[in-house]
Amino acid sequence: PDAPPVPLAVVTGGAAGIGRAVAERLAADGFRVVCADVVQHDLPALDLGAVPDAPGLVWAPLDVTDHAAVRAAFDDLADAFGGIDALVNNAGIQRHRALEDLTWDEWSAVVDVNLHGVFACLQAAGRHMLAAGRGAVVNISSVSARGSAGRAPYSTTKAAVIGLTATAGAEWAARGVRVNAVAPGYIDTGVFRQGVAQGTLSEETILARIPARRLAQPEEIGNAVSWLVSDQAAYMVGQTVYVDGGFLV
Ligand code: NAD
Repeated sequence: PDAPPVPLAVVTGGAAGIGRAVAERLAADGFRVVCADVVQHDLPALDLGAVPDAPGLVWAPLDVTDHAAVRAAFDDLADAFGGIDALVNNAGIQRHRALEDLTWDEWSAVVDVNLHGVFACLQAAGRHMLAAGRGAVVNISSVSARGSAGRAPYSTTKAAVIGLTATAGAEWAARGVRVNAVAPGYIDTGVFRQGVAQGTLSEETILARIPARRLAQPEEIGNAVSWLVSDQAAYMVGQTVYVDGGFLV
């Protein structure tokens, strides 16, 4: 008998940072992983005419704010790979600014990536998963969903993702598609480093507030995502798992 196809996972913003660690973990779990990102970094580019047949990472260009491109990309991927088994909505940006000084452009840049981008990818991949009657989505939220001074659009979009996750989870669970979220605490990758470099986040102050007294490793977010997309988490629907060293306790 033919071996079952190697499953496909798409990780947005998967070329660097947390997304990259998640992508590497999913490849270790046996997924062919497409890192859909505006930047390629060191990853080989996906050739839709010759898709890989073994687990590993490839890059495909995608700007999650371009809704038409998102739709086309997920249609192409589903065609070429024979379906989409997992989606991780990880691409995210932030702008630090006091609420009263935020410009409309700063606000909407963050909303476009962190919320509209998540909706666009969720819907585009979800349609293929619903047609197949199976699939798992993990959206990356943040502890900042509970409020983060100086980061109004970031905090707002990360909270909105929790609501969208719960609703999508409820709508799609009976049709075989599970949607959950992971809310990381602070991790020494792009979004956090940018805040420290700009002086808007203080590593010392944050560490003092984390019961585990350390930042998270990106691999620890990979562990949670790996579990949520697996059948071990078959009864997890619409939930947000906080991986934060106790920050919000
Ligand atoms: P990062 O900046 O290191 O990586 C983000 C990746 O997303 C980059 O590769 C970037 O090119 C890509 N990206 C940005 N805009 C995109 C777009 N429009 N379309 C496609 N890709 C795009 O950031 P990170 O720290 O690894 O954060 C990843 C996710 O984790 C984000 O959603 C972030 O909000 C969340 N998060 C981070 C932390 C932290 O402390 N670093 C904490 C909680 C949540």
